[in-house]
Amino acid sequence: MKGTGDVWNHVVPRDCSWYWKKLNSLKTMMINWYSRGQYKLAPKGEYSVSCSYATMLGTMTKLKEADLIWSSVLLPRQRVVVWLVYKDRLLTKERMTRLHMQVDDSCCCLCDAQVDETHNHLFANCRWITEVRDALSSWCGVQIRKAKAMQVVQWLKSRKWKQFKKELIASVWGAMIYYRWQARNWKVFRSINVNTGFVVTQIQIEIRGRTEWLRNSRKARR
Ligand SMILES: [Zn+2]
Repeated sequence: MKGTGDVWNHVVPRDCSWYWKKLNSLKTMMINWYSRGQYKLAPKGEYSVSCSYATMLGTMTKLKEADLIWSSVLLPRQRVVVWLVYKDRLLTKERMTRLHMQVDDSCCCLCDAQVDETHNHLFANCRWITEVRDALSSWCGVQIRKAKAMQVVQWLKSRKWKQFKKELIASVWGAMIYYRWQARNWKVFRSINVNTGFVVTQIQIEIRGRTEWLRNSRKARR
């Protein structure tokens, strides 16, 4: 640097620190962003963090159903769990076995079916979630599909409903997914049985609260 005073032509010394080497390695990626002291990614030639970030990300395919998972109708902590279920990424006993982690009993702990605790069983087929789903379906007047998370979200996305109704039903389903996982964890780690009736009431209170909160928002009019 001292010799040239120009970071772009600077040759990294062999004995310099790891950090300086790493920092300089970014030049190869960024060198095309500049021309004659001007920053090419922004119209006025000034540096822009957002332009650089977008360029680094490159072109990515947008998930069509993302608005139903990351909807503001659903509570933030619930969105994260729904996203993990959608991606089949929760640490179920079946997944733990696949990852060679120790599992004492691989069966579902919330029913007597004696079947492996898979994503599909936990969130679609289990008797526990069937009870909750049936109660919520009659409450909201929409028969929520019994299927894998990805299929449910795609099904909701394809409905000919207003956007707000899609997000509302997706949130009822999402809250059910969240409480299902919580009930499983309470049973596994605290030996507490969570009653399905309690969960249904809790979801109804939450959804009413969220819709009341959003009643006058632009979202509710869409
Ligand atoms: Zn079960």
